[in-house]
Amino acid sequence: MVEASLATPDGQVGAAAAAGESQSFIEVRDLVAAYGGALAVRGVRFSVRKGEQLSLLGPSGCGKSTTLRCVAGLETPVSGEIVIDGRVIFSSKLGINVPTERRDLSMVFQSYAIWPHMTVFENIAYGLKVRRRGRQETRQRVEEVLRMVGMEEYIDQPATNLSGGQQQRVALARSYAYVPKALLLDEPLSNLDARLRARMRDELKELQRQFGATTIFVTHDQEEAMAISDRIVVMSKGVIEQEGGPMEIYDTPRTRFVADFIGAANILAGGLVEDPAGGPGVFTVGEATIRCAPRLKPPRRTAEGRHLLAVRTVYPELQRRPQPTQENQWPAQIRRRVLLGDTVNYTVDWPGGELKVHGFPRDLLAEGERVFLHIPAERALPIDADLETAS
Ligand code: ADP
Repeated sequence: MVEASLATPDGQVGAAAAAGESQSFIEVRDLVAAYGGALAVRGVRFSVRKGEQLSLLGPSGCGKSTTLRCVAGLETPVSGEIVIDGRVIFSSKLGINVPTERRDLSMVFQSYAIWPHMTVFENIAYGLKVRRRGRQETRQRVEEVLRMVGMEEYIDQPATNLSGGQQQRVALARSYAYVPKALLLDEPLSNLDARLRARMRDELKELQRQFGATTIFVTHDQEEAMAISDRIVVMSKGVIEQEGGPMEIYDTPRTRFVADFIGAANILAGGLVEDPAGGPGVFTVGEATIRCAPRLKPPRRTAEGRHLLAVRTVYPELQRRPQPTQENQWPAQIRRRVLLGDTVNYTVDWPGGELKVHGFPRDLLAEGERVFLHIPAERALPIDADLETAS
């Protein structure tokens, strides 16, 4: 992990605190960035509140890193505006482009690089020394951040004695030793093996809780984003698809892309009759008619003129007996069952065709078993077709 300290000695913490909790601390407005003639970021706009951990989430190549690097000042946008703590640091209109080292940010990249000729202590203390912190304060701070990443006993070890994962922890500890205006983390965990990655994910969340640093975290890993973020900005092809809290994005994906990329969902193609009064609509697929969640704006249809309905695999219920008063209930049959240990994947035939349902071993159903399928209306979500496949 390359940790580049982009911070200046005077952190203007007072001014930052005065900005208040609810106001946005970092504003990115209509950001456009390109390499040569090719657009990588096409009009991205989001804000980060003070102390908030925001993730930019999306598949490789969707423009996350470029967005982050524009905030850091490592790329120059084509147009747009970036404001940090009330100060315009980039504006194409005003001709402002504050250099990286004067933005008071700290950035951690995925490939770790701590200084091999120094000890762990020296690596972490470096940034504090540059900022002329006293010897005692420096020692205390280094011990504190090392404790947080579980590396305190390595304090006097040469950096070269550490494994890759340990080096990464030291790099993270270093980025937290001096908390600048904001931390920018670009896939800092992606070079770790799965176990360590999951552990570091929890540790990052804990570090975040303790320090309350305003953070923008770039990841292509939806679980990572869900686990550590206060808010997620989902990107695809240089634009924002959706933005919201982790559960909000999970429970109410607005587009097919988001429903597919985050969590597991059935995407049904059919016809939607909306309630003109804005109440729940009715969706038809195969022989089934489903009461579904209301939608404020009519959803975008596919090129074939069909509407799409997303049903997350965790929400349908499979019951042995019908419930007398339940709407959205159909007879169904278990076609396939895959046991995964903690969970079970069912493929179910029902009047709407085929449905994937996530189950649990405590109430195991057999292949071929006849059941009743219930889809709660609020879990049947009309969504937008992807732009390129829309009519
Ligand atoms: P992400 O971080 O989501 O993987 P990037 O921001 O790195 O995406 O890349 C967005 C787009 O810009 C991609 O098409 C990528 O190929 C292109 N790109 C990124 N960096 C460069 C570069 N240095 N030169 C040319 N094209 C680049």
